[in-house]
Amino acid sequence: MKTPTRPPARRIFDPHIHMTSRTTDDYAAMYEAGVRALVEPSFWLGQPRTSPATFFDYFDSLLGWEPYRAAQYGIAHHCTLALNPKEANDPRCAPVLDELPRYLIKDGVVAVGEVGYDSMTPAEDTALAAQLQLALDHELPALVHTPHRDKAAGLARTLDVLRESGLPPERVVLDHLNETTVGAAADSGCWLGFSIYPDTKMDPDRMVRILRVHGTERVLVNSAADWGHSDPLKTSHVADAMLAAGFDEDDVDQVLWRNPVAFYGQSGRLTLDVAPPGEREQQLFQGNSILRGGE
Ligand SMILES: [Zn+2]
Repeated sequence: MKTPTRPPARRIFDPHIHMTSRTTDDYAAMYEAGVRALVEPSFWLGQPRTSPATFFDYFDSLLGWEPYRAAQYGIAHHCTLALNPKEANDPRCAPVLDELPRYLIKDGVVAVGEVGYDSMTPAEDTALAAQLQLALDHELPALVHTPHRDKAAGLARTLDVLRESGLPPERVVLDHLNETTVGAAADSGCWLGFSIYPDTKMDPDRMVRILRVHGTERVLVNSAADWGHSDPLKTSHVADAMLAAGFDEDDVDQVLWRNPVAFYGQSGRLTLDVAPPGEREQQLFQGNSILRGGE
């Protein structure tokens, strides 16, 4: 593992990335690029789950093993927990909603999420409303996924449910926005989340054009990297594209560090001081290291 000792020229907080699906090489490359903190939302794992118990093991992993793994690479890890929109449609998974309160009290949880709509079904209505109420009850922000299909209609319906929930817009990020949804999302007063992918949805140049129009406030930029074709360094590519387009280092720091700190800081649970790799004592997680379980 490379162990740079100087502070990063650039500090990056990726506010939405699924590290469970990523490798230790990704962690090392992210650290090199300046990533010092991230939030991992719980989501759909591709393979449908068939019982609530598998969610609980996954939640425990986002609260235990994955923060441990991130810390070995000098990166602070937090998570958001929820029943994701897609699996909200499976009655076998719905009981997760009843158990969420005992997870939302944990220190590593900085928001309820990802919640929102996938196919806009009645079951998704129920899960979204219930989980926005949980965010209110636990005084947490909410990470709200907007649908990838039928985006404008999906956002309009999401905003209706948000208004009914009573959750203040400044505690909500609307994620996966693009040119067609950014206007309505900005008018709502919610935070604006953009996922930058290698070849679909947003790319760094389109992101910069949106920043030119809407400014740098209330904007969160993430890689949303997961088990699909994605790139955990997309946040740093946006930083490069911003500088090339005439934004300055302070603008970059606002979008890629201070904004996510401000948004998730509303949880009162952000812990951002993680020792750099190499300066950290070897620690074990339940008796095991990342070296295949032993010294
Ligand atoms: Zn995601």
